Amino acid sequence: MAKPRVIREVRRDPLNRPPPQDISPHPWFTNETKVLYDEALRRGHRLEIYMSSLAEEKMREQSLRAAPRRLEVMGLLLGDVCSWGGRTYSIIRDVGTTDLENSPAKVKFDPSALPRLFNDLDRAGFDYVVVGWYHSHPGHTCFMSRVDLRTQKRAFTQGYHCSVVIDPVSREVRAFKLTGEGYSEVPFALVAPEALRFRRLKPLSSMGTEAETR
Ligand SMILES: [Zn+2]
Repeated sequence: MAKPRVIREVRRDPLNRPPPQDISPHPWFTNETKVLYDEALRRGHRLEIYMSSLAEEKMREQSLRAAPRRLEVMGLLLGDVCSWGGRTYSIIRDVGTTDLENSPAKVKFDPSALPRLFNDLDRAGFDYVVVGWYHSHPGHTCFMSRVDLRTQKRAFTQGYHCSVVIDPVSREVRAFKLTGEGYSEVPFALVAPEALRFRRLKPLSSMGTEAETR
């Protein structure tokens, strides 16, 4: 397979806009995550990550579909990096995925399916920033394994890059960011897509639920 070629790279300043106000916690938050979320709200809605319910639904459904066979799923988080009052935050608007090579303990994009991933991303319909990646841990709870951490350190090193981990069996979800040599949990909020005033957004029609179609 030909390696994907980056034909244009654009450096974009963060969009200057206030964070969404109409937010809610994810119903799959653990008590520990809920404490982090409440603490962030006490400090005046100071969250680093906002996730559209559209993106959340795609990730949840994809991971639930693969859960009976205990298969991991994964994909990219597409969105925006914004800044307000001297603080930077990211918005996960949508997700992108393709065919996967997956097992109960491992997942990666099927290399032969990468052209389709890139074609689909090109058709995303908005100028997205890849703000991180997501994958599932069916029945293993949510954390960053050594391999996950290596992936994060190799490909997602920007301050706004996060890793969302979903366990569709124990119904947990957590987001993490790199901190020093390790990682720490970062609480996030759900936002209705309407509240995000999408710019030129079209749905990623053929994406997000491919884990079981192979
Ligand atoms: Zn993992």
